[in-house]
Amino acid sequence: AKDLVEFRNLKTHFQTSAGTVKAVDDVSFKIREGETLCVVGESGCGKSVTAMSLMRLIDVPPVGGEILFEGKDLLKMSKRDMSLIRGNDIAMIFQEPMTSLNPVLTIGEQIVEPIMLHQLVNRKEAKQRAIELINLVGIPRAEKIFDSYPHELSGGMRQRIMIAIALSCNPKLLIADEPTTALDVTIQAQILDLMRDIKEKFNTAIMLITHDLGVVAEMADYVVVMYAGKVIEEAPVIELFQRPKHPYTKGLLKAKPVINQKQERLYSIPGQVPNPVDLGDNCHFHDRCEFCMQICKEKEPPLGTDPNGHKVACWLYEEEGKVE
Ligand code: SF4
Ligand code: MG
Repeated sequence: AKDLVEFRNLKTHFQTSAGTVKAVDDVSFKIREGETLCVVGESGCGKSVTAMSLMRLIDVPPVGGEILFEGKDLLKMSKRDMSLIRGNDIAMIFQEPMTSLNPVLTIGEQIVEPIMLHQLVNRKEAKQRAIELINLVGIPRAEKIFDSYPHELSGGMRQRIMIAIALSCNPKLLIADEPTTALDVTIQAQILDLMRDIKEKFNTAIMLITHDLGVVAEMADYVVVMYAGKVIEEAPVIELFQRPKHPYTKGLLKAKPVINQKQERLYSIPGQVPNPVDLGDNCHFHDRCEFCMQICKEKEPPLGTDPNGHKVACWLYEEEGKVE
């Protein structure tokens, strides 16, 4: 498939009183048409900032790099062109749909408005389309829901509505930031099913941000693992699950609960994500890594590619790192 999005050496940094926070630091990866790409990592790794940079929803613009969408750099686009892209080609859904829905407007109003705005149709046609969308996302009695207010719906229904709003513009890319984290397990599975159906039906590319390896296993075609503002590993999903390379990824996979198996206690990676203000030019995982060598504390490992296209940034996989 063709490349839809390409992050090229993206750097999104924030100045704080404590120093510079390199939330996203020299990140490069691609999303292909119709592909589900999962960005995985613990919270604070830069996943959401990467997505928000793409949407240009951050007050401070990235300090470096490019974000190409169909070959055009979104970071260089005028505000007006960018808002057209946001309404037509790229849509986003968030973790807590209640905060993105307007509590004083009916569900119908909130779907009709973007349709009228972006598809230049009249209210009647827009309503027709809105009802179709509510049906499409698997909500029965769409006419009744159309006249309801957000607080009258369950969390799962609200997330379906957010997906309906996102789909109203037939996006080429749907960004979903922890879309099921706030939902209980059964509802979570239904929402993931819905997203998979949408991808199949409309060939929509999905950039799915999650900390949950179970979600990754179910949804991803391709996986990008982030740690402390960097991409530390990336590969097609089967390759990544069968042959994880980075000690951090291996830790995440160990931490994944096994379905139908009662476990005493979940494994979790010891230690914490480092303070983002004082990151050195070293491996940011070094103080949590059981394989840490001298070079890891002194030099940042580059993101290297093996013959299968599996990428990893770790000195264990570099000739240089093996020399004491
Ligand atoms: Fe561990 Fe070194 Fe690899 Fe970092 S570079 S993950 S510290 S072995
Ligand atoms: Mg986040």
